[in-house]
Amino acid sequence: MTVPTYPVETTAPPPAPAAAPAAARAQLLHEGSVEQYRRTLAAGVDRVARRVATVDRPGTGITPAELAPLVDRVDLDRPLGDAGAALDELEDVYLHDAVWFHHPRYLAHLNCPVAIPALLGEAVLTAVNSSLDTWDQSAGATLIERRLIDWTATRIGLGPNADGVFTSGGSQSNLQALLLAREEACVAATGPAERADLLPRLRVITSAAGHFSVQKSAKLLGLAPDAVIAVSTDAQRRIRPAAVRDEIARCRQAGLVVMAVVGTAGTTDFGSIDPLAELAGICAAAGVWLHVDAAYGCGLLVSTTRRHLLDGIERADSVTVDYHKSFFQPVSSSALLVRDRRALRHATYHADYLNPARMVEQRIPNQVDKSLQTTRRFDALKLWLTLRVMGPDALGALFDEVVDRAADAWELVSEDPRFEVLTRSSLSTVVFRYLPTGPGRELADAANLHAREALAASGLAVVAGTRVDGRHFLKFTLLNPATTVEDVGHVLELIATHAGRYVHDRTAADLTCHVG
Ligand SMILES: *Cc1c(COP(=O)(O)O)cnc(C)c1O
Repeated sequence: MTVPTYPVETTAPPPAPAAAPAAARAQLLHEGSVEQYRRTLAAGVDRVARRVATVDRPGTGITPAELAPLVDRVDLDRPLGDAGAALDELEDVYLHDAVWFHHPRYLAHLNCPVAIPALLGEAVLTAVNSSLDTWDQSAGATLIERRLIDWTATRIGLGPNADGVFTSGGSQSNLQALLLAREEACVAATGPAERADLLPRLRVITSAAGHFSVQKSAKLLGLAPDAVIAVSTDAQRRIRPAAVRDEIARCRQAGLVVMAVVGTAGTTDFGSIDPLAELAGICAAAGVWLHVDAAYGCGLLVSTTRRHLLDGIERADSVTVDYHKSFFQPVSSSALLVRDRRALRHATYHADYLNPARMVEQRIPNQVDKSLQTTRRFDALKLWLTLRVMGPDALGALFDEVVDRAADAWELVSEDPRFEVLTRSSLSTVVFRYLPTGPGRELADAANLHAREALAASGLAVVAGTRVDGRHFLKFTLLNPATTVEDVGHVLELIATHAGRYVHDRTAADLTCHVG
């Protein structure tokens, strides 16, 4: 732990407020402060660049108990007065112990290294600070977002009536998709009584490997506690279409209304892709809304070799994409796309002060008419600059690289007798566990949990954990093209060492007990 170089405790009174107005105005961005703006931002960029250049592990393994006192000690009512000092302080409370996704041994969650053109976009969009709700707060930003929505919808193949909107993330995209699906299911309800009767009977079918935001959305949407039906998956962890068909029939017989089927193009744990074309056929036949959650798998939209894995996605009614997962964009950058733009009307409210209905007749493009948010970041600019500098093929090639690397990693784990590995992912996850042999066999769950924690505490690598069929597994999620097979091999050795030592110590302790 470093010794703070800034004043942390003092009895001196806070600076006199009288000095404030002029100095405070100089901290606002305007024509008189551009030099300050340049210097301050450059100092921040420099600070991050130095950290990025020198970190030798993805984290430091610091605990909340160790870090919290440093953060708590900062007196928010006593400003440092200068960005350099604030950056020094930030070094201690954040940058020094941050988790770095660009490090090749960060293998845990769906976090990607970020494209530099996107960081340029981030710097521009926050400085200009456009808000994407109305034209009079954004102008060109609105048109750029619309172009990117059209571009994405075209890549998916949603047809001429498609539309959509940027969101804060896949969870929000899924929530909005299910809101639209719920409202479409309710359009036939003639009045409040009929609607009240229908709501508790609505059901959403997804797979056991679907994302938990579907459950959370159902709760937010006022559906019944058992509204989400998670059907079983096949050996590849894909939804079983026959189970979906059966479930739709069963619901109908029971007087229930299936308002949506949620297929997943890239499950978070297994990177499995549901059979989208079959789901589309079932949904079309049954007249059920098909939502495809491609938060993870959307990177295939720009792959030059694997786009076919998404075949059928073009028949969805709505699609979630997370550019901040597989398009190498910084958080947050996501979108919801819909096949029929009219569905977005369910998110439209007109406020006299902001977007009165007459603006629709005047053809003034207000994105707030399509969004769950009001004031909204111009996140689209990051993707715009990324595409303008790098282009889609380059992004697709990066994603293809991590998918290839995950296949190599799977081979490596499957050939290693110390580990058990689950099915090969279509994308870039590897789910596996250390398997103790002999008397320590029953310690498998505890040993894998221990290995993950020990690894995180060392900071040398970060891996994820999950439960599969009641057993504890470890998970690699590869999203960094800089990760090599050697990195994966090295992390496997660390895991085997931690888990092996744990099992050894426990079984040795047991033996001592028995002898004693
Ligand atoms: C990550 C993920 C989400 C949630 O997206 P956020 O951007 O984290 O809100 C939804 N669905 C799937 C399949 C995901 O992997």
